[in-house]
Amino acid sequence: MATELLGKSKEELRGYFAGLGEPGYRAAQVYHALYAERKFSFAEMSNLPAELRARLSEEARITLPEITRRYVSQDGSVRYLFALAPEEEKGAARAASVEAVFMPSEGRQTICISTQAGCAVDCRFCLTAQLGLIRNLTAGEIVAQVLVALEEHKAQLAPQTNVVLMGQGEPLLNYDAVMGAVRILLDQQGVGLSPRHVSLSTSGIVPGIERLAQEKVRPRLAISLNASNDEQRDALMPINRKYPLAMLMEACEKYPLRKWEHLMFEYVLLGGVNDAPEDARRLVRLLAKVKAKVNLIPWNPGELPYREPAPSRVNEFHSILLAKGVPVFVRYSRGRDVMAACGQLALVEIAGAGVEVEG
Ligand code: SF4
Repeated sequence: MATELLGKSKEELRGYFAGLGEPGYRAAQVYHALYAERKFSFAEMSNLPAELRARLSEEARITLPEITRRYVSQDGSVRYLFALAPEEEKGAARAASVEAVFMPSEGRQTICISTQAGCAVDCRFCLTAQLGLIRNLTAGEIVAQVLVALEEHKAQLAPQTNVVLMGQGEPLLNYDAVMGAVRILLDQQGVGLSPRHVSLSTSGIVPGIERLAQEKVRPRLAISLNASNDEQRDALMPINRKYPLAMLMEACEKYPLRKWEHLMFEYVLLGGVNDAPEDARRLVRLLAKVKAKVNLIPWNPGELPYREPAPSRVNEFHSILLAKGVPVFVRYSRGRDVMAACGQLALVEIAGAGVEVEG
């Protein structure tokens, strides 16, 4: 069976080419071609000898996820539905699909990618949770979402690319593949992104946070908090019963931040659930020992039984945090009309929303 090269690290490619009897620099050439130049066929890798290109075409492969749908939002965001190749290693051909969103804005583009097909974490406000976990993505499938989105927009790319691991899945429950992908994204000979521009969002998997804290190369960390006490968080995010707030906040307090870095806390404001002034005051106390930034995300009305918060509540919540010196931003999700907003990635086929373009 042909060997998949997409997702392999420099070391893995070195091992592969050594096995073919090729010098080490071939690995570096292919690594650069794949991730920095986005060349997805061996024929395009013209710096390799013709004989080697022919051999690789027989013995290796570069598998990109197939784009099955593109939904273009009025704000310019594009939501992709990708079909992934079946997981052959496990015997059964289990097809899976995931989503990514490309969001252009002044001077930069932000790409939101998935790390698992479906998710087992079961946050109550998240449509992905309803899928359950279908499977983990490989490092190649995670990196490929970024590469495909960049390649599709190559004619109008802004200078800065941000990547957020906030699509389907809990990244820290697919740790090795996620970190394999992150290392390629952050490697200057790979995709070449800055660690300031790559963020991983977790529901609060404490052992994963502790493991990430040990990594030399790591993205920024965002915690999807959404509640200010255990009772509320247990109800919204059952994972809180396993890793309650005291344990989560202790891991956050110990997390080694780089000089320029804050811990990001995402707080989805659900009307009448967690948007009261008392919630804001409790949140301030909870974050007292952490160098934190808070993103308030007013709920996008959708299929789930939650309400959008009243604008006055959003303002008051924001003011309370600000008055206590907590850096806080209100983020209105992009791509609302194509279900590309946070917690809305759940393979929903939308009729009449955005412009649908067949893959
Ligand atoms: S919010 Fe994230 S962690 Fe929670 S169920 Fe959805 S995808 Fe999983």
